[in-house]
Amino acid sequence: MGRKKVSGNVAGVRISNAQRQIDQSSGATKGELAAFYESISDWAVPHLAGRPVSLLRAPEGVGGETFFQKHAERLAIPNIRHLDPALDPEHGSYMEVNNVRALVGAVQMGTIEFHTWGAGSSNIDRPDRLTLDLDPDPDLPWKSMLEATELVLAVLDELGLESWLKTSGGKGMHIIIPLARHIDWETAKNFSRAISAFMAQQLPDRFTAKMGPRNRVGKIFIDYLRNQFGASTVAAYSVRARPGLPVSVPIARDELQGLRSAAQWHIGNLHQRLAQLTEDPWAGYRNRQRIKQEHWQQLNAK
Ligand code: ATP
Ligand code: MN
Ligand code: MN
Repeated sequence: MGRKKVSGNVAGVRISNAQRQIDQSSGATKGELAAFYESISDWAVPHLAGRPVSLLRAPEGVGGETFFQKHAERLAIPNIRHLDPALDPEHGSYMEVNNVRALVGAVQMGTIEFHTWGAGSSNIDRPDRLTLDLDPDPDLPWKSMLEATELVLAVLDELGLESWLKTSGGKGMHIIIPLARHIDWETAKNFSRAISAFMAQQLPDRFTAKMGPRNRVGKIFIDYLRNQFGASTVAAYSVRARPGLPVSVPIARDELQGLRSAAQWHIGNLHQRLAQLTEDPWAGYRNRQRIKQEHWQQLNAK
């Protein structure tokens, strides 16, 4: 991307060391990352607002030491909201990013990635979505990843469950299944595991429901472990702390076959995509689905 001179002030937040490079591959600076987040905040904030957030901080940039921060600490992040400390009495408060100032405030504190819970802050015990995190063997061709994603979508269609897609910004795809807040985390995890196990049982050459690189040689692990209390998934429109600063990007279903990689978009080219969109790829997302007895039965579970 072209070098932009970024002043020390972005969205009203003073950015220290704005000229410091945070990614060798793109040459991007901390100031440019802050400016990028400000420029996409209308897209990013709706995916963060109202949910507990975890921050991946990488003060030295990509490749340096990282910290995954789930609780507010003594060093306050400008403009971030602290949730009721009673939600986790033994640790600090959970945090929420509700506006561009908090988004940029987190970047000022060294954040590159934003991860959210699959539940809203007003009821953290009732998930409002399931996330299936498709994790391929890194040696698998991209075409297999696309086929696997289509296969999981076909099963969800068969179950009558609406789902939404995003790139992870890394190797795989994330499939989001919005829910009415009607089940607890234990049930959410069990149901996600049932989907993962069903795919592995039906297509054992393609899928595994077992974690660990040895179990997924030539296969895709459908990671259901995002669906437990306190777990998070990288948020839509979060930058990743990986070379080239790729972004996790929501896509419409009819865009899937044209996708070239899970890291296709990055801070240098996301704007092109957003400028060309005629509608939000997740338009129509709503939380009203319920997991029913027949879903379990169709998955040969319970
Ligand atoms: P990829 O497509 O490369 O797998 P990913 O974001 O899906 O990218 P995973 O390793 O599969 O990466 O992790 C899935 C999610 O689990 C992450 O988005 C993150 O929210 C969470 N996660 C991963 N590592 C940690 C960690 N060390 N601590 C807490 N949560 C983590
Ligand atoms: Mn993954
Ligand atoms: Mn995973």
